[in-house]
Amino acid sequence: MKIGILASNPNLYSHQRLIEAAESRGHEINFINIRNCYMNISANNPIVHYTGGEDLAGYDAIIPRIRPSLTFYGTAVTRQFEMMGVYCLNESVAISRSRDKLRTLQLLSRKGVPMPTTGFANSPEDTKDLIKIAGGAPVVIKLLEGTQGMGVVLAPTQKAAESVINAFKSLKANILVQEFIKEANGKDLRCFVVGDRIIASMQRTAAEGEFRANVHLGGSVDKVRITPTERKVAVKAAKILGLRCAGVDIVRSASGPKILEVNSSPGLQGIEQATGKDVAGMIIEYLEKNARPNKVKTTGKG
Ligand code: ADP
Repeated sequence: MKIGILASNPNLYSHQRLIEAAESRGHEINFINIRNCYMNISANNPIVHYTGGEDLAGYDAIIPRIRPSLTFYGTAVTRQFEMMGVYCLNESVAISRSRDKLRTLQLLSRKGVPMPTTGFANSPEDTKDLIKIAGGAPVVIKLLEGTQGMGVVLAPTQKAAESVINAFKSLKANILVQEFIKEANGKDLRCFVVGDRIIASMQRTAAEGEFRANVHLGGSVDKVRITPTERKVAVKAAKILGLRCAGVDIVRSASGPKILEVNSSPGLQGIEQATGKDVAGMIIEYLEKNARPNKVKTTGKG
């Protein structure tokens, strides 16, 4: 197969591993830098051009790995490959859904996926009510566009919650106010979904004095056995968003698993190190089974 990794940093562990895994299976794999792509969207001949003048044709599969700051342009390039009939591991619309925490939670709640009780509002007049919706302090306040735990704040008291919410509002930031799952005890689960299976899972534990388990904030990772219910909920969440490859984050609450987030470009380093599994190899294997042979109908080329 001819595979493209559509991303922006070729040196990341995840990208290096995917390249290694594809090459060791005899595939051609190229790193496609999102920033170097430009597009022809006229008439009925969609093409992705690359800096230097080359046309990116003949791909059997694209693995989009779009960093949050490049979501808009990265999903546009992914969409262009879709227009060309190229199989994309995650489709652009699914990536866009997962990038918006509110949209994600709305879609999951419609299908009965459990999550921490969450409130969202625009006007500062609704602050008190918003805290009440989330069950009262302590609450977790999240910036809608935040990643890697930045923009996630624990407000221990009503007063602290009001101050933080009003401060974010005065900056015109969009925020969620969420029930704090105390029993999670600074831990969460990352379930790595490929297709309709969890291929690996790990537990992340927050650093001392921290409630956020993100590795970027000093969290540590361990192998974990997840329960059948957790497995079911994680696969269902990825499916609802339309993601074929996803990192589903879950906290263990007293009333069962609750979904925090679904990530469309889950990192490979932590999960491969914690589990010893060849996650990159399993992603390529999934493409081998599921990517249709290249059918670029619109360009008329094979
Ligand atoms: P990000 O996308 O920035 O990683 P998350 O919503 O995943 O934001 O939150 C970061 C971390 O904070 C989670 O991995 C989890 O450890 C902790 N956390 C988030 N929400 C809650 C909550 N409602 N209750 C308890 N812990 C939480």
